[in-house]
Amino acid sequence: MRGVERFHKEAGEPYRGLFESLADRQEPHTLFITCSDSRIVPNLITQTEPGELFIVRNVGNIIPPFETDNLPAEGAAVEYAAGVLGVSEIIVCGHSGCGAMGAITSGKSFDELPSLSRWLSRARSVHMLRERPTPDAAARLNTLLQVKHLATYAVVRKRAAEGGLRLHAWYYDIGTSELFEWDEQLGEFQLLTTERIRQMEAEHGPRH
Ligand code: ZN
Repeated sequence: MRGVERFHKEAGEPYRGLFESLADRQEPHTLFITCSDSRIVPNLITQTEPGELFIVRNVGNIIPPFETDNLPAEGAAVEYAAGVLGVSEIIVCGHSGCGAMGAITSGKSFDELPSLSRWLSRARSVHMLRERPTPDAAARLNTLLQVKHLATYAVVRKRAAEGGLRLHAWYYDIGTSELFEWDEQLGEFQLLTTERIRQMEAEHGPRH
């Protein structure tokens, strides 16, 4: 509550004009999908302002494939972002030290927590992608798996095929606060350096 007061009195002041301009509309460029983990602050690590990121967070940054979820909260957000808001990028951002990935790789069961248990079962296939992955390797594989799941949504496939939407798998190392992006050609995660960002812009056009 003290934080709210501080924001209202001081810290929010520089944002007043921005929020006024955003009062009736939003035009985010990116759907950012990440874990609920308290150590990830999407706007901080991407240095973006209010109105830029449409964010979906859940335990393990999981997007169930189309029509596999009885109450598709994630699917609704994906379709709204891609089909209504018209985002041009979708980023799935996994991270180091993920509790969800730790539970999956250790085979830990949550019999007393049935909702958590059912939810994590959606990412258990990361196990099948590689034998005995470490939690951090599983987190990286999981982001790739969720990008595949994104492609099961018709609106995502259509917009990507038209060239208006790009999908990215990111991995955030909490200890070093470094971000890595999956490079399809190299088949590995690459550190997002200034040089690499310039190179990608030269190949694919400017990014946000
Ligand atoms: Zn996590």
